[in-house]
Amino acid sequence: MTGQLAVVGLGPGDARYVTPEASAALADAQALFGYAPYLDRVPACAGQRRHASDNREELARASAALEQAAAGARVAVVSGGDPGVFAMAAAVCEAIERGPEAWRTLDVAFVPGITAMLAVAAKIGAPLGHDFCALSLSDNLKTWELIERRLDAAAGAGFVIALYNPVSRARPWQLGKAIERLRRHLPAATPMVFGRAVGRPDEHIDVVTLDGADNAPADMATLIIVGSRDTRVIARAGKTPLVYTPRAAVEVSA
Ligand code: SAH
Repeated sequence: MTGQLAVVGLGPGDARYVTPEASAALADAQALFGYAPYLDRVPACAGQRRHASDNREELARASAALEQAAAGARVAVVSGGDPGVFAMAAAVCEAIERGPEAWRTLDVAFVPGITAMLAVAAKIGAPLGHDFCALSLSDNLKTWELIERRLDAAAGAGFVIALYNPVSRARPWQLGKAIERLRRHLPAATPMVFGRAVGRPDEHIDVVTLDGADNAPADMATLIIVGSRDTRVIARAGKTPLVYTPRAAVEVSA
């Protein structure tokens, strides 16, 4: 029997966002590994073992999953959103690179999912309609100085920026500092989108400007899109505004 490992993206929350490929990979697995709230989203499957772990234990989780796959099991590791975006796919690759030679010959598949920035963008128009980048504000795995340099570079070069991991209990001040940093490069009226728990029952979207961003609520389940100088807001009577970045760059910021 040859084992196999699938690293599966569950999308942002609602079952409608799980792709048929992801559903098939999950149903086929004999063992599931993941952060408990993500495992809770996977429909129960008779005889399937579930191994929940804390969200800070990604490398240990990846190694445990690889061990079971190497022993012959069909294993799935789950991530919210897309597994390749600040999630388990890179942890699995790190474990394979550091681990025993046998892990390199395992059958490994990466099953994509809808990542948070695309789910948030789709709720509000087309904020990612022109060049954009994604940045995690977590300084658990990189220094705060590096994050500031990347914010400077991205905002200075005119990219729309998707900010993952803006806030957590252990990281209360980073978002405020990032907003201050962005103000060095972008006008006060730059649109920002705060998308919270998109695709879940408590979903909430706020459209604010850079100068009003300090008061917008953000938590661990929030994805923030910072517009560029070109990003526009279309007000609509009785409806949420549309936020979009035109296909053509109007201005290259200095
Ligand atoms: N792999 C995930 C991202 C993991 S990092 C993905 O592709 O979406 C975790 C961060 O993702 C959160 O702090 C938040 O910024 C964002 N996020 C995840 N799910 C979200 C959702 N449903 N709504 C808004 N943001 C979300």
